Amino acid sequence: MIFLDNAGTTSMFKECVETYSFYACDNFYNPSAVSRKSAFVHAKLDEVRRDVLKKLGAVKGSVIFTGGATESNNLAIYGAVKNGDFEYVFSSGEHPSVYNVAKALELEGKKVHFVNLDKDGRVNLSELEKVVNNKTRLISCMLVSNETGAINDIKKIVELKNQLAPKALVHVDAVQGFMKIPFSVEDLGADMLSFSAHKFHGPKGVGGLYVRSMQLIKNIFDGGGQEFGLRSGTENVPGIMAMQTALLKIDVKENYKHVSKLKEKFNEIVGQESGIKVLDFLGSPYIEVLIFSGVKGETMLHALEEKGVIVGLGSACSAKKAGNRILENIGYNKDEILSSCRVSFNAYMSESEIEEAGKIIAMVYKDMLKRLS
Ligand code: PMP
Repeated sequence: MIFLDNAGTTSMFKECVETYSFYACDNFYNPSAVSRKSAFVHAKLDEVRRDVLKKLGAVKGSVIFTGGATESNNLAIYGAVKNGDFEYVFSSGEHPSVYNVAKALELEGKKVHFVNLDKDGRVNLSELEKVVNNKTRLISCMLVSNETGAINDIKKIVELKNQLAPKALVHVDAVQGFMKIPFSVEDLGADMLSFSAHKFHGPKGVGGLYVRSMQLIKNIFDGGGQEFGLRSGTENVPGIMAMQTALLKIDVKENYKHVSKLKEKFNEIVGQESGIKVLDFLGSPYIEVLIFSGVKGETMLHALEEKGVIVGLGSACSAKKAGNRILENIGYNKDEILSSCRVSFNAYMSESEIEEAGKIIAMVYKDMLKRLS
């Protein structure tokens, strides 16, 4: 099976399983207890925190471990909410774990602005500029779109924020960027940044939130006060340690180069089959969209799985819902959206696998058109 839905999730490195087992069965101690064994585990978590900060290129701030990016995004946004005359700004391209939180804030009566995407799938900066003002409390914008791979200019957004709303916070959902595309949080200038281990070959249900300072947000649920009081609950030690194993194994720059080559090769092959439109948003090499004119994306997905290739239908979290609010916002029509599939690569695939997948996709589409004509 050739798996081309790596933006949905990735397979965990085998080494992570060994680490997981070591911290689940041998060194299973509660990091908050007082024994020496617990102190050892506690120190190990701090070591991972430092490794994450290093990979983020952070010179200040800390990392709060969470149960994945959905939780990180909720913590960042609800944690930043303040009573009073404040406004909140979101891109329309956000993942449901941000977008639906924004909708919930709106329902609560908060002033929420959604900024549309431009034709390249990026947040429209001139529109953003018009809604940011001195009442803005938070701007939340993803780094890499999980639907299209488009990359937002976070640095520019932070610059605009500094001019128009210096006290506002900028949160970045970097789930599809962290450990995949080279960036540094210092360079972006973000105050908070979410990431998730299962998108880079670590375990599911583990992630974190980078915060420039602990004082920026409040906790969103009460408990024992773990994670600096910002995320109560015993940490998922085996999961966090397994995430470290993945983190240390990955060479972001090398992987980026390899995946760029894979994407180029893949596009060369599928591009030869007239009718398959490649929507390459010139963003992350890890993600792109294919439009199979005349055939439903879902029909293609099932036919491809029969032939050994798994593609995606946009975000797994919203894949079962009809349509695609992101492609719609960019300006694609209903027919194009219904005939689209998302293709996403990982850095451990070979060129020959990609060639084979490309050929299968082209062949299945050709057969499908013949059957329908
Ligand atoms: N944000 C983005 C951009 C994502 O792609 C995902 C996963 N589909 C999430 C957030 C949610 O991450 P998790 O599965 O760790 O909750």
